[in-house]
Amino acid sequence: MMPAEIERIISQNNIKYVLAQFVDIHGVAKTKSVPASCLMDVVEKGAGFAGFAVWGLGMEPHGPDFMARGDLETFSIVPWQPGYARIACDGYVSNAPHPYCSRVVLKQQLARLADRGWTLNTGVEPEFSLFTRDDKGVLMPVDESDVLDKPCYDYKGLSRSRAFLEKLVESLQQVDFDVYQIDHEDANGQFEINYTYSDALTSADRFTFVRMAAGEIANELDMVCSFMPKPSSDRTGNGMHFHLSITDKDGRNLFHDPDDVSGMGLSKMAYHFTAGLLAHAPALCAFAAPTVNSYKRLVVGGNASGATWAPAYICFGDNNRSAMVRVPYGRLEFRLPDSGCNPYLVTAAIIAAGMDGIERELDPGEPMNLNLYSLTLDQIKEKGVEILPQNLNEALDALEADTVFTEALGQEIVSEFLKVKRTEWVEYSRHVSDWEVSHYAEF
Ligand code: ADP
Ligand code: MG
Ligand code: MG
Ligand code: MG
Ligand code: MG
Repeated sequence: MMPAEIERIISQNNIKYVLAQFVDIHGVAKTKSVPASCLMDVVEKGAGFAGFAVWGLGMEPHGPDFMARGDLETFSIVPWQPGYARIACDGYVSNAPHPYCSRVVLKQQLARLADRGWTLNTGVEPEFSLFTRDDKGVLMPVDESDVLDKPCYDYKGLSRSRAFLEKLVESLQQVDFDVYQIDHEDANGQFEINYTYSDALTSADRFTFVRMAAGEIANELDMVCSFMPKPSSDRTGNGMHFHLSITDKDGRNLFHDPDDVSGMGLSKMAYHFTAGLLAHAPALCAFAAPTVNSYKRLVVGGNASGATWAPAYICFGDNNRSAMVRVPYGRLEFRLPDSGCNPYLVTAAIIAAGMDGIERELDPGEPMNLNLYSLTLDQIKEKGVEILPQNLNEALDALEADTVFTEALGQEIVSEFLKVKRTEWVEYSRHVSDWEVSHYAEF
């Protein structure tokens, strides 16, 4: 974006502050508020942060500052917070791109594609849960009182949350998201918002913006908007499917081949990329399903409304929503990530895995075109299909054992991720839950 365009946005919208924003290793937005007159300082030098105070930046209290340098391409107003703009930043330390900054790590992976003249496009499908708090402060789904076996697409649920949904959509539209659908999903209070895909960096910046918008708009309406992967044990979790394609310099989709005999419209390159995703699935899982709670979404078996919709099986299939990679036609849909993911890290990891598939010309095998939810675990294993890690610790073990990610994403961020997440796992494992007390108190 040219400085003149920025000037115009600032004066037309009466912008007084710019949020210099980056994400921690979890993908959570961190900001400083900068008077608009100081914007160019943020772009040229960066806004300074004590990196030790932020998760996963690999910094010590006695070292240099983490400087968040604004990327002018991302400058936009913050529609739900009049007078404010936001600029997404890259982390710099001592004037060098910081290897622990997820946006920096993603840009390095995108540069591998750019060297070949390629652009990765991602279309993500954020799902989230809307809650209110009862008198005791307990979170309740906004439409909990509509007791339906299958709340998916129900009109009442959509209608009763429209004040929130309209404000969210209008906010995103004001900053050029092409929103094309919103629906009530399969759990009470659960929704999905769809907007047209973009290049992968823009998509990651946008998902971060969606979380910022949804959280604050909900807060103004006395609600809580949650992107946690599995808020309720017996209802569907919040997924964040990634639709994927790679285009060349002329915008041609290199994943698409109309002559593909399988009818899925995939090119050889897309098959190799798919094979990379499958080969590295257990390690990818650590980034795509990065919380202890994520594995309650990735369970094997059904739930109250019929299916969990989560892809616990490492396979791909023709328009198969029970597989980890679904092929809508001429592109891929990676169904593993959940809404609790760091979009920069997941995208970087997708590239690392997919590019390994392309470079080694891996073969994904035959597509799995059956309803895997209808099979028993033994039947699935008989078909040679492996199951994804069933808890965070297993996924972290897989990541630690898979050298492709350390080589591509860097030793720094992978070690830091493992460190932060192992701590999370240990804390969780030591926690004594209600379930344990009710099962073991008098057994
Ligand atoms: P579904 O629920 O069937 O998985 P959605 O309509 O919810 O599909 O989401 C589809 C996503 O895929 C959207 O973000 C859309 O823009 C994106 N998409 C469509 N074509 C491509 C493409 N060629 N490359 C990447 N993403 C794409
Ligand atoms: Mg200070
Ligand atoms: Mg969808
Ligand atoms: Mg959905
Ligand atoms: Mg989908």
